[in-house]
Amino acid sequence: MPNSVLVIGGAGYIGSVCVEQLLDAGHAVTVFDNLSEGHRAAVDSRAPFFEGDLADLESIARALCESRAEAVVHFAANTLVGESMTHPGKYFRNNVANGLNLLEATMAAGVRKFVFSSTCAIFGPPERLPMTEDLPQQPINPYGESKLMFERMLRWFGDVHGLEYVAFRYFNAAGATTQCGEHHRIETHLIPNVLKVALKQKPNCEIFGTDYPTPDGTCIRDYIHVTDIAQAHVLALTPGKQGFYNLGNGEGYSVREVIAACERVCGGTIPTVTKPRRPGDPPRLVASAQKAATELGWRPRFPTLDEMVSTAWEWHRSHPLGYELLSTTKARAA
Ligand code: UDP
Repeated sequence: MPNSVLVIGGAGYIGSVCVEQLLDAGHAVTVFDNLSEGHRAAVDSRAPFFEGDLADLESIARALCESRAEAVVHFAANTLVGESMTHPGKYFRNNVANGLNLLEATMAAGVRKFVFSSTCAIFGPPERLPMTEDLPQQPINPYGESKLMFERMLRWFGDVHGLEYVAFRYFNAAGATTQCGEHHRIETHLIPNVLKVALKQKPNCEIFGTDYPTPDGTCIRDYIHVTDIAQAHVLALTPGKQGFYNLGNGEGYSVREVIAACERVCGGTIPTVTKPRRPGDPPRLVASAQKAATELGWRPRFPTLDEMVSTAWEWHRSHPLGYELLSTTKARAA
């Protein structure tokens, strides 16, 4: 088992939770992040931190060398479907070109294990549900396309250079741990936006599209607890594990159902306004995670929407400004 892991993007939402859980599992973890989306205060105080950018080959090489990395776990990417529809170049530059820098530096450093955060957006609107790994890959936004391009590079680096890789296609990450939660400087995601309304930081929640071909007309997504995603990464580090895996719970919830779950958990009514569809949003995405269960032994521990929303609500209530108040401290526990 590699026990020295370099986590790229370990100051972000999913990355920071993964860092916590890798440390708890006994790995030595170093974090590399450019802090463009992540927060210094989200980085576990047990992990050494390198502030650096994947555009800068030298700083990647230094982090790989100084951390004595035996495995790389790569979360750093731009991840917003809507933004990718207006700024596709940003997505191809950062997620593909800068990602290639990381892959090449990884090979040059002699590291032969790589775990990659991919997305269900690589598939586009699926022809059947739940979505298994063998579905056609036809992304309908530059975000999904950029992640698919990285997956293809990974496969070739595996074939040609012997890199052992695991890529996880996450469905919709949700929830929090006591320490780490979801704080984006510009929040576009559904659950944190609904919780901001519950915290009275926003007057209402916007529903993007009510004319989709779904029972209540709103988009359906498969939500997965962020700690369950992190556990999959811990399992992926087991030597010999390789491949592409979908990660979700196999249950889809509409935007209106998510809002209703937030109302149950927060105990109040969430005012909503309906808006036009958001470009690039497929109507329904629901995972089959059977392959991850069979091949990696992955089992979600928080499969219900209410559990996910409850942990998110706890974190948002105890961090009403997210990491902002902690931003002057160099690390969470410092
Ligand atoms: N959504 C919404 N209001 C919001 C944020 C998101 O109606 O304030 C919808 C969005 O259009 C999509 C679903 O909620 O159908 C999930 O969006 P999110 O951005 O959370 O995740 P994505 O599926 O884009 O990764």
